[in-house]
Amino acid sequence: MLDLLIIGGGPSGINVAISAKRAGLNYLVVEKGVIANSLYHFPVNMTFFSTSLKLEIQDTPFISHQDKPTRSEALEYYRRLVQSFRLNLKLYEEVLRMEPATEGYRVTTDKGEYATRNVVVATGFYDTPRLMDIPGEDLPKVRHYYDDPHVYIGQKVLVVGAANSACDAALECWRKGAEVTMAIRGDAIYDRVKYWIKPDIENRINEGSIKAYFNTTTEEIRPHEVVLGTPDGPLVLENDFVLAMTGYQPNYELFERLGLPIQEDDSCKPVFDPNTLETSLPGVYMAGVACAGRETSKLFIENTRDHGQIIVDGILQNATSTVGH
Ligand SMILES: Cc1cc2nc3c(=O)[nH]c(=O)nc-3n(C[C@H](O)[C@H](O)[C@H](O)COP(=O)(O)OP(=O)(O)OC[C@H]3O[C@@H](n4cnc5c(N)ncnc54)[C@H](O)[C@@H]3O)c2cc1C
Repeated sequence: MLDLLIIGGGPSGINVAISAKRAGLNYLVVEKGVIANSLYHFPVNMTFFSTSLKLEIQDTPFISHQDKPTRSEALEYYRRLVQSFRLNLKLYEEVLRMEPATEGYRVTTDKGEYATRNVVVATGFYDTPRLMDIPGEDLPKVRHYYDDPHVYIGQKVLVVGAANSACDAALECWRKGAEVTMAIRGDAIYDRVKYWIKPDIENRINEGSIKAYFNTTTEEIRPHEVVLGTPDGPLVLENDFVLAMTGYQPNYELFERLGLPIQEDDSCKPVFDPNTLETSLPGVYMAGVACAGRETSKLFIENTRDHGQIIVDGILQNATSTVGH
C-alpha cells in the first residue's frame, strides 16, 4: 500500500515527489514517457519565457547559460533532480484508470495495479492538441506539435494560430527558408506573445516576409492545398505542410477514467479546493498546469511551484486527523 501515487513525471510530479520523499511518505511517480516527457517534446530550439530562477524548485539551483533556460537545460535540470533526490519513478508506464478501494484507490496501468491511499494527478495539458475539426486535419502533413525547422526548408508552410507557439514556429521556419503563411482567427497577434517575439513577428508580417491572413479560418486541408475562409471569401493556397498551433488541453478522457468531476463552466477545471488542491474525491489531488483545465495560459511551472508542499501537508494533516479518530 503506497501513501501516494503521482500520475505524471513532469516538473509538477517531480516537485510533489521531492516533498513526499522529504516527508518520509511511501510514494511512487508513474510516467508514461521519459522524465519531463512534455518538455522533451517541446520544440528542439525553444527557450523558456521564465528565467531559470523562477523555474527552480525545492531550493535546488537551476543553472543556465543565459537568464532564460533552453529546453535541453531544463531537461538536464529535471534529470538531475530525479537522480540527486533518488526519486522513485516508473517510466514508460501509463495510468489507465482508477477505482475507489476499501482503503484508498486501486490504480491500473498498462503494466500492473497499485493500491494507494492518495493520488496526485499531475498530467499537464500537452498530450491533447485542440483540434480544428476540419476536413483533412488527419493528413500526415498536418502537425499539431512543432519540433525542428529543418523539416520545412523550402516548403510552403501554413501556420495556424497567433499565440506564442505559432509565432515561434512561423519565425523559425521563415528564417530557415520556408515560405510561411499564417491564418489568424482574430485581427491581431495575441497580446500575450512574449515581448521579444511580438515586435519581431509583427515586423516580418508588415514587411511582407511572412504573409498573414487576419480574421481568417482554416476551412479545409487537401494533400497539396489549403482552403482559407477570409473576409473576402474562400482562398485556395498551394501548401506542403500545416503547423496547427491551436493550443492544447488536459486529457479529459483520462480524467473520466479516473472518475474526476469537472466544473461545468468554460474553464472545465477539475473540481478541487484551491487551498488544499484536494478534489471532490477524498485523497485525490490536482497538481501543476492540469489544475487550469482549458485555461492553459493561466498556470505555469512558475506559479505552481508551491503545489508539492501544499499537497504533502494536506496528506499529512489528513493522516493525523484519521489517526486521531
Ligand atoms: C511550448 C511551451 C513553453 C512553455 N514555457 C514555459 C515557461 O517558460 N515557464 C513556465 O513556467 N511554464 C512554461 N510552460 C508551461 C508549463 O511549464 C509546462 O506546460 C510544464 O510542462 C507543466 O508542468 P506539469 O508537470 O504540470 O505538466 P507536464 O510537464 O505536461 O507533465 C505531465 C506529465 O504527465 C505525463 N502523463 C500524462 N498522462 C499520463 C498517464 N495517463 N500516465 C502516466 N503519465 C502521464 C506526461 O507524459 C507528462 O510527462 C510552457 C508550455 C509550453 C507548451
